[in-house]
Amino acid sequence: MSEDKKPGTKETKYIFITGGVLSSLGKGMAAASIGALLKARGLSVTIQKLDPYINVDPGTMNPLQHGEVYVTDDGAETDLDLGHYERYLGEPLSQRNSHTSGSIYYRVITKERRGDYLGSTVQVIPHVTDEIKHAIRSLSEQNVDVAIIEIGGTVGDIESQPFLEAIRQMRGDLGKDLCLYVHLTLVPYLRAAGEYKTKPTQHSVKELRSLGIQPDIIICRCEEPLTTDLKRKIALFCDVEADAVFTSADVANVYEVPLKFYEEGLDQKIAIMLRLPAKNAKLDPWLKLVQTMANPKGDVTVGIVGKYVELKEAYKSLHEALIHGGVANDVKVTLSYINSEELTAKNLKENLAGLDAVLVPGGFGHRGIEGKIEAIQYARKNKIPFFGICLGLQCAVIEFARNVANIPDANSEEFNPFAENKVIYLMTEWFDPRKQCVEQRDSVSNKGGTMRLGSYPCQLTPGTLAQEMYGAKELIEERHRHRFEFNKAYKAALEEKGLVFSGMSPDGELAEIIELPGHPWFLGCQFHPEFKSTPMRPHPLFAGFIGAAKKYRAEKAK
Ligand code: GLN
Repeated sequence: MSEDKKPGTKETKYIFITGGVLSSLGKGMAAASIGALLKARGLSVTIQKLDPYINVDPGTMNPLQHGEVYVTDDGAETDLDLGHYERYLGEPLSQRNSHTSGSIYYRVITKERRGDYLGSTVQVIPHVTDEIKHAIRSLSEQNVDVAIIEIGGTVGDIESQPFLEAIRQMRGDLGKDLCLYVHLTLVPYLRAAGEYKTKPTQHSVKELRSLGIQPDIIICRCEEPLTTDLKRKIALFCDVEADAVFTSADVANVYEVPLKFYEEGLDQKIAIMLRLPAKNAKLDPWLKLVQTMANPKGDVTVGIVGKYVELKEAYKSLHEALIHGGVANDVKVTLSYINSEELTAKNLKENLAGLDAVLVPGGFGHRGIEGKIEAIQYARKNKIPFFGICLGLQCAVIEFARNVANIPDANSEEFNPFAENKVIYLMTEWFDPRKQCVEQRDSVSNKGGTMRLGSYPCQLTPGTLAQEMYGAKELIEERHRHRFEFNKAYKAALEEKGLVFSGMSPDGELAEIIELPGHPWFLGCQFHPEFKSTPMRPHPLFAGFIGAAKKYRAEKAK
């Protein structure tokens, strides 16, 4: 019995996923899809990301470089792959599921300063690797059958070596039956030669083996499914079983990946190798999802007015949540990214014409704000469905204050700290019932922990659009990631002009949702609902928003 197994708990088995040749092969997607497949076999699964960069978490990273910062219920700022995992597993993960070299080293150094190492020379092996192994092994406390661990980066990178060494040691620690190594590589197609090339895969596996890790399963990212001959060749050169080479071919819809893996028998092979119960995966919901997405009954175009429009990864969860909203309404959602910095009162109409809905997503800093406010005014006046998320809510409040409530200099403290009328401001006496919890996080909180991060309750106002969207619930919980709040001193003035506060924190201090009666669908929320949307359970606000866009389009066509 391994150390992981306490009486009455499951013996967690570990699947380690590494990547070779180059980045962006879809390792996160592969990890998430394997997780979905194993879950469909009735197993309990969790997925963890180990990222080799030195940032303690991606909270301080520019989304243009790193993509979206994903937020968990317990307030961890994580890599966007955690979003894939949650969407494919359909269950929430936590700060335990995400670590970086920075957070690992931070803990090691904190221990060293505390004197925990009792005079030892602190080294990568064993101190850093032990800390990594501890982070991995802590997953077994979730009492799961399988823990999937994705190692970020590419084999051969200097940064990822401690992680690879740690997972190498784990097979020795736990035994062969509890560990499985899956390597994802690229098999490129060389057009001039008219051939698929296996050499990069061979080299990548060689590199992995030089670190002491022999992969059990190889997944080849490829334009098309690999032929049996090519699979055999790869198996031979890389010393894996002949039926342990799989393809991750390009797909039109990312939600097809679990089904494609299933068709090739990947979950079957994993189950045999890890001696998991021989059960067939129940994939009906995935089949239904993919079929629904392939045969939409209509389409809508949503304009996303934001700053990071050049990199779609910066809005990954948002993008997915809108697609889920499309699934709920049986329509295909086309996203049109509009750079708010280029939006002016003059070119507004030509930029927004043709849209069925307008969305202003989250963001930081003053750049592009005026363009967003223009777009919101346009959507409000022309009764185009509007959804404002986080910064989007804040801009909607500013727009309403300026143009409806006659407060022309209304602004956010973030954009103009000297504005007289800060309708959005930094609360100095911010009561945070969860702050303790955020501060206790292993990692260092972003910018001194001034952000409201993670899940908070919100009381819905009866009879509002928001409450209708949430199926008449009274209390909901949503995830936050922001520093500024609505300034309650302006609540009465805005209410008098017709703005409705349809969601407030239970103590009535913080505005969570605003809406405009008399408009077909105009709603802003201070939280990020996109983090909780999954393809099987589209988030009610996204389902409602896309429903409104569909209606708007139908009425336009009349
Ligand atoms: N910049 C705003 C704030 O910090 C909004 C943040 C966001 O949209 N996530 O409050």
